[in-house]
Amino acid sequence: ADAEKLPRSVSQEAHRMVEHVHREQAAEIVVVGSANLDTTAHVPRLPAPGETVLGGDTGESVGGKGANQAVAAARLGRSVAMVGRVGDDPAGRRIREALTTQGVQVDQLGSTAGSGSGAALIVVDESGENMIVVAPGANSTLTAAHVRAAQELLARAGAVVCQLEIPEEAVVEAVRLAGGRVILNPSPVRSVPPEVMARVDVLIVNRSELGAIAGAPEPRTVDDAAALAAGVGGPGAVVVTLGADGALLVDGNTRVHVPAVRVPTVVDPTGAGDTFCGALTDALVRGEALDGAVRWAVRAAALAVTGAGAQSAMPTAAQLATA
Ligand code: ATP
Repeated sequence: ADAEKLPRSVSQEAHRMVEHVHREQAAEIVVVGSANLDTTAHVPRLPAPGETVLGGDTGESVGGKGANQAVAAARLGRSVAMVGRVGDDPAGRRIREALTTQGVQVDQLGSTAGSGSGAALIVVDESGENMIVVAPGANSTLTAAHVRAAQELLARAGAVVCQLEIPEEAVVEAVRLAGGRVILNPSPVRSVPPEVMARVDVLIVNRSELGAIAGAPEPRTVDDAAALAAGVGGPGAVVVTLGADGALLVDGNTRVHVPAVRVPTVVDPTGAGDTFCGALTDALVRGEALDGAVRWAVRAAALAVTGAGAQSAMPTAAQLATA
């Protein structure tokens, strides 16, 4: 009623601001993680230590596990917001623009003055095998306070997704403030506080991460992986990605192995793991059961390995439906 007494233009402006706040404060999925500008070089074979290998053209693209997983879920139709930090530099502006174009909300992807954006140097050989160096830059300036600024988003989202390319205090805070499911992809692998693990609903690891977390050699067979995953204390369920062997779900006494979708040629496996995480979260937020979500993620990741680049090869829901 009060608004009616205001001049029309003011009430319209107030209305617009309220809508803006609503839009900013709601997302089905919130990814708290890294965003980088990646440089990729294609080479005939990976260099040995001390060796120089001549490669083909280089290309730049937006990456970082956080940004990749956010884009993977957004492509599949979810509303996604990202919490993180970029540098106060041209790379940071490019990252924010590219994510916005992909439909990812970047209001909580702040820029840190005096810091360069995160960068990754990626080398991919003809067989699709890769080597990656990540320089975290501004990603390492993400604090618990930055995460708290996104408290509303975190509390309301159906799922909060984290990886470990950001400081531990940010992960701890994100998990603490998450109102919905918590998905953790502990990559690059390091120890995680027990209170974080205890709050994780789905832990997504590849073979080497599973070995490191279990304090055992990298599992070679599906059975080895299942035995190790069953012994990981804390998370509600463990999903192990097994490259060309698909993925494994270990949820209490339930164990489901989903074979990989056979693909004609592996063009570039970069980002397959991130596509998997984004797609699994998409399915969970849509209300699918965990085994169905793993099947969906295996299908999405198969499409990702058949295209060049990480984000550029991520499927849309329509592509996945007809694949
Ligand atoms: P990356 O770090 O390269 O993104 P990752 O090590 O995190 O990958 P992987 O286990 O290699 O993860 O792959 C993730 C998922 O991608 C697998 O669970 C599988 O479903 C799919 N995938 C990987 N390689 C292939 C392949 N050759 N053919 C079909 N699907 C594949």
